[in-house]
Amino acid sequence: MPMIAINEDRCKGCGLCVRVCPTHVIEIGKHLNVKGFYAAAYTGGKCTACKACGLICPDICIEIFK
Ligand code: SF4
Ligand code: SF4
Repeated sequence: MPMIAINEDRCKGCGLCVRVCPTHVIEIGKHLNVKGFYAAAYTGGKCTACKACGLICPDICIEIFK
């Protein structure tokens, strides 16, 4: 089953990945990362491996696995 891994400590919490995900399986988390941002987090729901999140992330934080 496809899934993603988000490098939380690189994330700046811009929310672009949250907005672009067609299946709504990414959210902004509730704890601060090492940079002081609320980082994006994978909710564990259904990822289709469309790659939209990985392509839009300006900081290359997201890896997609098929
Ligand atoms: S690869 Fe596509 S479906 Fe999976 S989390 Fe990213 S945007 Fe969402
Ligand atoms: S697009 Fe990248 S930097 Fe922005 S919230 Fe998502 S993972 Fe973080």
